[in-house]
Amino acid sequence: MTHPTEEKLSFKSELKQVLHLITHSLYSHKEIFLRELLSNASDAIDKVRFNSLENENLLQGDKDWTIRIAVDKVAHTLTVSDNGIGMDRETIIEHLGTIAKSGTRAFLDRLKDAEAANRPELIGQFGVGFYSAFMVADRVAVVSRAAGSLEAVRWESDGQGEFTVATAERAGRGTDVVLYLKPEEMEFLEEWRLRSLVKQFSDFIEHPIRMAVEKKKEDVSTFEDETLNSQKALWLRSKSEITEEEYNAFYRQVTGDFEEPLKVIHVQAEGTPSFRALLYLPKRKSMDLQFGDAKVGPRLYINRVLIQDPCEALLPAWLRFVKGVVDCPDLPLNVSRETLQQNPLLEKIQKNLVKQILKTLEALKADQREIYAEFFKELGQILKEGLGRDWERREAIAELLLFENLKGEVGKGITLAEYVAAMPEDQKDIYHLAGENRAALAHAPSLEAFKSKGWDVLLLTDPIDPFVIPGLPEYKGKALKAADRHAPEMPEAEKQKAEAAVGVFQPMLDLFKAKLTGLKDVRLSSRLKESAACLVAAEDALDPHMEQLLARLGQDRGTSPRVLELNPEHATIKALLAKFQTDPTDSRLEGYAHLLMDQALIAEGSKPENPTAFLARINELVAKELS
Ligand code: ADP
Repeated sequence: MTHPTEEKLSFKSELKQVLHLITHSLYSHKEIFLRELLSNASDAIDKVRFNSLENENLLQGDKDWTIRIAVDKVAHTLTVSDNGIGMDRETIIEHLGTIAKSGTRAFLDRLKDAEAANRPELIGQFGVGFYSAFMVADRVAVVSRAAGSLEAVRWESDGQGEFTVATAERAGRGTDVVLYLKPEEMEFLEEWRLRSLVKQFSDFIEHPIRMAVEKKKEDVSTFEDETLNSQKALWLRSKSEITEEEYNAFYRQVTGDFEEPLKVIHVQAEGTPSFRALLYLPKRKSMDLQFGDAKVGPRLYINRVLIQDPCEALLPAWLRFVKGVVDCPDLPLNVSRETLQQNPLLEKIQKNLVKQILKTLEALKADQREIYAEFFKELGQILKEGLGRDWERREAIAELLLFENLKGEVGKGITLAEYVAAMPEDQKDIYHLAGENRAALAHAPSLEAFKSKGWDVLLLTDPIDPFVIPGLPEYKGKALKAADRHAPEMPEAEKQKAEAAVGVFQPMLDLFKAKLTGLKDVRLSSRLKESAACLVAAEDALDPHMEQLLARLGQDRGTSPRVLELNPEHATIKALLAKFQTDPTDSRLEGYAHLLMDQALIAEGSKPENPTAFLARINELVAKELS
């Protein structure tokens, strides 16, 4: 393809909004632009270094990996340069003119709503980093020459909606990002300011960030190159030498998070393979986790050379909230990305890491329950996915679950172990009930028998529960059962009484079943104490709450026919039986059957099938009662 030397192009429309938002809403944190540019430069060097593992020619002899900051106090420019992979014309248009991320819309909405203090965190996580340069610059120029190419390209924009791309010249591979600083941002030309920003945000970048700094000797100024960052590969140092602040600073650099991590896991394993890992558990769900496009895994280094970021083979998806780095010198440097996935060494490392993470969580739960509960509220949903996906670790994950429970305080979860320890002697199984919210569940008629027996029930209010809890059929030999399908076992005497009642009630139940369409069955219940009727799932059906959720997700499979259960001890049911026995053809019986059905629907938080007919029946009864 041939290009005109210079072309003018428009930013993609969403990018215009991103630019506008970044420049206007991040004002109090504008200094993060430097962190973003330095990290792009470092990534670019990592990329060319990685590619050169297979093709050394790409480097054309330049292996002196360097990032450079240069200031021009006359032209008022700040330049960040690297000798990384560079960009050709197409790449530059694609990367600096569009945002290829799927969640951009959602991101914009989030950013608008977010507290100003949280915005830098969001931006860092979303990787719209480059554009933050427009917070401090009226105009930005990028001059870049791709590795292996002779021609350079110059991209330039004032961040207002258009950019130009022209052919240019550059000595050697790499990229210069030139910021024409706004008049009020001249502080970013000052050495002390740049120095302290590098220390604060970019100290662990492993390539040297160099700058010509002024040295005064007897009033004569000379400039000398100095490396501003310590380049410490934190994970290689021994734990005792590392301060908490260093751990936290590295976390912020790796994740873009502005908060401190919840926990640091620093593994120094000797053996086959020997490796170092520095992993972090976050306090909160990051943006990418919220929008479902989160990458899985820490970065993989081999002897400080970045090989893959992220490396999916290092952690299972249900631990995708864990970020950090792994360095394994035992891997061959020429390992390809494709074969990484099946590498047996990585499998071993993964096993080890998962064990350490679960152990850390277990300890947190045991020692700092409230902090753990906060963590679980934020990230437990992701952790739970492991129940169905990772059979080997199912038991260990089960120990980490927290549930709301019928007997417990609102918002305070219990573990399965605590539930089991509190089970009365006659209770054999673990019961749970899924539903929209705790208030509705706590009053569900299907729990009446549990309450009267004093049995606790786990309340599954997390929308993911109906999908993942079936992945755990039992815990410590105790079956997990849905309370709306499995009523507590009745004592023998009650059982006989109930069986006798069935014969008496059956003809009426048959009539109701014939009149109420769409039901699988109408039967007597042992689970009701106060209510007259309730709806339960047939033993072999999908969980009704799960069906509702699926329908909401656009995967409506229709609802499985349910079972209407009636309480034979209830005055209303007894009166209906008496009426039925004197005149089974009484036309009012059908109306009452519908009334029972509607009651059951309302009690579980659903709507009556036909609200107008329901109200008409109620009013008819009131009128009759009072006339
Ligand atoms: P992110 O770095 O999170 O992808 P940016 O907006 O900062 O987002 O950068 C967009 C893309 O532009 C990068 O992914 C990279 O491909 C490219 N890019 C940015 N800076 C450089 C650089 N110095 N050298 C090479 N490519 C770069």
